[in-house]
Amino acid sequence: MKYIETFSTALNRFLWLLMAVVSGALASCGSPSGKPGAGGIAISFDDHFIKEWYELRPVFQKYNAKATFFITCPDSLNAEEVSMLKQLEKEGHEIGFHGTVHAKSTELMAAGGPEGYIKAELEPGLRHMHAAGFRPTSYAHPGGNHDDRVDSVLLAKNFTILRDVAISRRKFKGFQLYAWPPRWMNAIYYAFDRQQKVDALMIDYDEVTEEEIAEAIQEVKENGTALMVFGHEPLYSAPSNGKYGFNVSFLAAVLREAHSRKLKFYTMSELPKVK
Ligand SMILES: [Zn+2]
Repeated sequence: MKYIETFSTALNRFLWLLMAVVSGALASCGSPSGKPGAGGIAISFDDHFIKEWYELRPVFQKYNAKATFFITCPDSLNAEEVSMLKQLEKEGHEIGFHGTVHAKSTELMAAGGPEGYIKAELEPGLRHMHAAGFRPTSYAHPGGNHDDRVDSVLLAKNFTILRDVAISRRKFKGFQLYAWPPRWMNAIYYAFDRQQKVDALMIDYDEVTEEEIAEAIQEVKENGTALMVFGHEPLYSAPSNGKYGFNVSFLAAVLREAHSRKLKFYTMSELPKVK
């Protein structure tokens, strides 16, 4: 996944997506089936907005929700942030890993092979996480950048689930290249098939509507799957300066809908463990 694309790349992607979607639609209708009664939602957050995430606790508590926080640049965690993450963990949330320096894994791999990749992006950050008392077992790909080689290194490092990025809309200079309804995005539904490579739908500002989330929640209720969504910084107004973030009132709407439809809240590492 890339955030910034040239028009031609974006157009190629759009055409590819269109083809994939048409062939997918012919092959199957609706999202995959999971386990009856297991319908749930797995919410995650990426990067390093520890204090801002911590301030969301009242809304998590209101809906009895738990989530996964994927931390990058753990070398800069201060004592206050460590204790906030500890408290989140104590309350049932999960602390995952999101890279040492948030690099493009495929480029590190191309430059230094698996050893170079591990030394630059995995080991130093994990050392900091371990020293702070965290043992992350889930991983979110920085920038959604990865390939099979990267995945195999991460799985060999004992991560049990690797999370990528799925986007339902793509704009270029204000022109909408595509808007794909989340209810048709099969990859964002966990089918409880022990899959370790998964995609989550981005819920940052302007990416998806409350109605689309309600439809996706309807899908998981009917099919016994788990909807996977993620965002970055909690925002209380429209993002400025190219920030990535979600509207806190939107998150509250997602949690309210999930709670009222009696969805189970899963952390990312719990997903592949469900039997
Ligand atoms: Zn990130």
